[in-house]
Amino acid sequence: MKFNKTICGGAAALAFAVSGAAEAYTLITCNGNNIRWSGTSATMRASDIGFPSGSSWRSALGNSISLVNQNPSAFDYGIVYGDTSVGFNNGQNEIWWSNGFGAPAIANWWMNCNTGRFTEVDIRFDNTVAYTTSNSKSVLWPYGGGSRPFRTTAIHELGHGVGLSHTANTYSVMGQDWDHIHANGSTARAYFGEDASSGAVALYGGNPGNVQDLGVSQWRRTGASGEYSTHDRTRIRTSGGGWVSSSTVNGEPRYNVNKGQQYLVEFSYENNGESYQTTEVGYFISTNDYISTGDRRIGGRNGMGLGRNTVFTFQAPVTIPADLVSGQTYWLGVIIDEDSTLSEVTETNNRTYISIRVN
Ligand SMILES: [Zn+2]
Repeated sequence: MKFNKTICGGAAALAFAVSGAAEAYTLITCNGNNIRWSGTSATMRASDIGFPSGSSWRSALGNSISLVNQNPSAFDYGIVYGDTSVGFNNGQNEIWWSNGFGAPAIANWWMNCNTGRFTEVDIRFDNTVAYTTSNSKSVLWPYGGGSRPFRTTAIHELGHGVGLSHTANTYSVMGQDWDHIHANGSTARAYFGEDASSGAVALYGGNPGNVQDLGVSQWRRTGASGEYSTHDRTRIRTSGGGWVSSSTVNGEPRYNVNKGQQYLVEFSYENNGESYQTTEVGYFISTNDYISTGDRRIGGRNGMGLGRNTVFTFQAPVTIPADLVSGQTYWLGVIIDEDSTLSEVTETNNRTYISIRVN
């Protein structure tokens, strides 16, 4: 058996494929074999000390497992709590808190390189990092808060335990995890995402349960730092091509737009499910950051085709209504699968926004 590990948050050099490649995920390999579990499940065991009964940590870890299990592959994690003897290479997949390993979290694994199979995966979180189990935007790094979201990091490490390595060339939780996140209203939600889902299906095949999911995000890939894709918020530009100026309000960008003018508004559209979808997208104006079908519709697109491959970050034309109030802040919303024709494993990622101030 061979031991290996990945230092998450470190900066290792790795060549990455050019953008436009059909797939972006990278799989863990050894001796030319992709590494995966022999079956389609693995059971993780959480430390009783770090994830005690009734704690928000246990709840957030369980939620992270559930979020990974929404992936469209045949693979699912199980989770057992109350492990009192965590350790390396003991035949059990365990999760615990520690520090001094040079990263906010780390996955270590043991594998048989000849058969291409994991034999054990252990995950540790650094107990000196300012993690939070909160889903409230205001406390989270990506929205100007002071804490690293626990769930995005947990999903990234669990992604290694599926058999995924780091992603550099598309928006992915296997890149920089903490700003791979979805928000609508005051709540943010961590998720596995299109790229990791594609890698999981490549390893384990599709889920017999017909798992479909479309999503739209206010985050995009900006580049790469070593093995990791880097991310930032989606933007607005003019029809002429210039990026619109913004200021930071409550930790989020707010774009300065003119009434009656057409702009190109950017979002990242994701297919996190098993099958190719052709979908409808609507654009809305809202007086708050919670987007719903009750908001004012200002445009839309029919026939957007989305395969499950790399994330489709796209700028769509919309016109700011001429009757909005000057000096007021609004939210430009987007809804994917606007007519709710697709049955999805989750609907919570179908709506998001960009803040605007109308001149
Ligand atoms: Zn990693």
